[in-house]
This record gives sequence, structure tokens and C-alpha cells, in this order.
Amino acid sequence: MASVQQPIVIAIDGTSASGKSTNARLVARALGFVYVDTGAMYRTLAWHCLRHHIDVQDEKAVAAACRRWKTTLQCVDNQVRLLVEGYYPEREIRTAEVSAAVPHVAAIPKVRLWMKKTQRDCIRFGNLVMEGRDIGTHIFPETDFKYYLDAHLEERSRRRAADGVQENLAARDQRDSQRAAAPLMIALGAKVINNSNLTAEQTSRLIIEDIQARLQAAGRTLAVNPR
Ligand code: C5P
Repeated sequence: MASVQQPIVIAIDGTSASGKSTNARLVARALGFVYVDTGAMYRTLAWHCLRHHIDVQDEKAVAAACRRWKTTLQCVDNQVRLLVEGYYPEREIRTAEVSAAVPHVAAIPKVRLWMKKTQRDCIRFGNLVMEGRDIGTHIFPETDFKYYLDAHLEERSRRRAADGVQENLAARDQRDSQRAAAPLMIALGAKVINNSNLTAEQTSRLIIEDIQARLQAAGRTLAVNPR
């Protein structure tokens, strides 16, 4: 009997503005995988709380809002979206206000449990490239494909500023690394890439080559779409 192959999950974690989104998108496009931005899911919850005047530092209130939340997952153009009551908030979750609120929401254990269930559920869309802070450590710890991106703080701040966003990245990273629930850390077996002096093309190529080498070692191959 032929064995059914499980979907592949590529986990890309790392610090804020370390190029996770750009690289995860490039890798997903090259491999024809579905891209999942888990930061967007936390941002969507923070946005939802701000909209409903829920204090993001009130753990019980945020956990209750999360429990009552009416959301659906949708896959459009190989990208997963989290809809809130049928609406897809895209630009509004990228404001400085949401960025400042999101680490509070993300530190709440009940929120992280909800996110874990929702993020693992994305496997129904097929092979995934999922980026975040705890994908290799907590969401899909069983995957053989784990990457951790980082870059010097000055370089990351420069990239954010080039996107028109002024933000205290060090403060956000500190909150994300020091929380008790699923803190940002390098997963066991993850390939660490400091891309301070690399372009996105170079970084994504490193990741794709590593994926191909690991697959080959496991007796599998994967077609890569030309850029
Ligand atoms: O990746 P992005 O900067 O959009 O993430 C926003 C915030 O969401 C992070 O600073 C972190 O607080 C939280 N987050 C998380 N775990 C993830 C993804 C994001 O705690 N897997």
C-alpha cells in the first residue's frame, strides 16, 4: 500500500524586522507552498481588542474576547488569512498602536493556546511556510525544517524605517523573549541565519538549498519554481 506523505511545514522564526515575512514569502513562492504569517494573527487580535476598548493588559478580558472571537481561516492565492466576522483586516493591523499592543496580547497563555490550535489547523491547506516567533519551538516542533533569522538591531531598525515605521524594536524583542509562554528562542535543530549583510534573495536561497538538502537526505525531492 502506498504511504500518504504528510504535508511539509517550513518554520521560520526570528526577531522583529529580521526579514521573516519577505523570506517566507519568497520561499513559499519558489516551492509553491502556502504562506502563513502568524504575527498577523496576533496583530488581528490586538486590533480587535483596541477596537472594542478592551485593555490589552487585562489578561482575563483579552482571554474572554479571544474565546468569543468569531473568526475563519481562508486561503487566497496561497496565503492564509484570518477573517474576523467575515472581514479581513490588512492595513489596519500594521499601525504603531497595534505594534505596541500586540506583545501584551501575545504573552497571554490562553491566547497562545487558541493560536496554536488555529495555526496547526492551517495544515488543511497543504504544505506550509509559517513564520513567527514560536513555530519551531511550539507550533510545529516536529518539523525537520526550522530556520531562525536575525540581523543587527541597527540594520533591522533601518529596514523598518525604510517601510515608513518608527518603532522601538529592542523593546518588542525583549518582551517577546522574556515572556513565560512560548518565548522567542532558537528551536533545537534550527539553522540560524544572520542576514545583516545579505539580500532577501541570498537569504531565501540559503533556506531553499537547505530544505532541498534535508529532503534529499530523507529520499524526497521538491521542484523549485524559477524566480
Ligand atoms: O511578526 P510580527 O512583527 O508581525 O509579530 C507581531 C507580534 O506578534 C510579535 O512582536 C509578537 O509579540 C507576536 N507574535 C508571537 N508569536 C508568533 C508571531 C508573533 O508572539 N508566532
